[in-house]
Amino acid sequence: MNQNLQQSLSSAAPALSMQGIHHAFGRHEVVKGIDLEVLPGEVVCLLGPSGCGKTTLLRIAAGLETLQRGRVALEGKEVAGGGGRHLPPEKRSVGLAFQDSALFPHLSVLENVTFGLKHLPAGERRQRALTLLEQLGMAAHAESYPHMLSGGQQQRVALARALAPEPQLMLLDEPFSSLDARLRDQIRDDTLHVLKKVGAATLLVTHDPEEAMFMADRIALMRDGHIIQVGTPRELYCNPSDPFVVTFFGEVNELSGEVRDGQVMTPVGPVDAGWLAEGSTARVLVRPEALQVAALDAPAETHSHSHTVMAKLLGRSSLLHICAHAPDGEEAHVHARVPGVFLPAEGQPVTLRLDPSQVFVFPSRPAGARAAHGQAQQDHRHYAYDHDGQ
Ligand code: ATP
Repeated sequence: MNQNLQQSLSSAAPALSMQGIHHAFGRHEVVKGIDLEVLPGEVVCLLGPSGCGKTTLLRIAAGLETLQRGRVALEGKEVAGGGGRHLPPEKRSVGLAFQDSALFPHLSVLENVTFGLKHLPAGERRQRALTLLEQLGMAAHAESYPHMLSGGQQQRVALARALAPEPQLMLLDEPFSSLDARLRDQIRDDTLHVLKKVGAATLLVTHDPEEAMFMADRIALMRDGHIIQVGTPRELYCNPSDPFVVTFFGEVNELSGEVRDGQVMTPVGPVDAGWLAEGSTARVLVRPEALQVAALDAPAETHSHSHTVMAKLLGRSSLLHICAHAPDGEEAHVHARVPGVFLPAEGQPVTLRLDPSQVFVFPSRPAGARAAHGQAQQDHRHYAYDHDGQ
């Protein structure tokens, strides 16, 4: 985080503050007590599976959905809250862009972007719009009409239009999801640079963890109307507070076992779990990239040793399906993701080593029990481990 951003974060009121937000459609409560802040200049991503309430929360911030319970403030001023207070969207100084933001078809690109700038003199209006179009790679299309542009180009213009009035807050709902992968990466990159250049506080809704990690200063991960964890991408990825947080960021190998003498024996080796009650069941989540795999020179019997079941080249990495073998004979099918081209033959005996920063241990909860929401469960531990896979 740069020094300017840090200074403004510590001194100014939050660009957006949402407190105690609840929202229901009929009897279906979809937002269940959310507190969230976006600080000046900060990009916060609301991340979560489909239907968890992200869009509803964003629409409440925008004023497109009438607040039912809680309080919304922009730069310290309440815009929705007690006594039915509701400032309409057009008076909130927010810039909105959605997945398929419709441009005005009868206006040129330049006219679309200057549309919200009627209060400025014509020269300044034009200059500001052209600067933004330039930053988003669209200056050459200023005189074009929307139907002459590709979907990606239209989305760039929609972002320029939302940014042009210099809103206090940008609210973006899946703005890149209708674009194909290559184009999406480029537009994300350009958008992030523009947001940071103009210092726009931004709340961005996405269901894509990689997009959230790329765009966000902080991520708020939601599930079923609750925020499960808020933090920097690194905090969520490296210090997840709940198994859901681990699994949401990608595939994991899920193992379990009983805690005996402070350890859990798993087919990929012993795991330190001394902080859990003796005799309790632990859940061990191992990211595929945590497993470091080396081929064993000496031939070994596949039935008594970890070995390769299948190996696939995925481009930048190889995905290995491995039968991991515990000394007591217990086996588990695990996936390992290793950099580059490493394709051991089927049946090849291997040794396994773990990167402890990518392994997470949680207490197991009884079948059917639900995690306590809203409270950080900082009770997992990484463990250091060096094991030859025997
Ligand atoms: P997605 O990523 O699929 O858009 P989301 O996390 O943004 O999901 P919301 O769009 O906020 O989720 O929807 C949350 C829940 O509220 C869903 O079950 C949805 O069907 C329901 N919902 C949303 N809008 C309305 C509405 N206007 N009337 C009734 N139910 C609604």
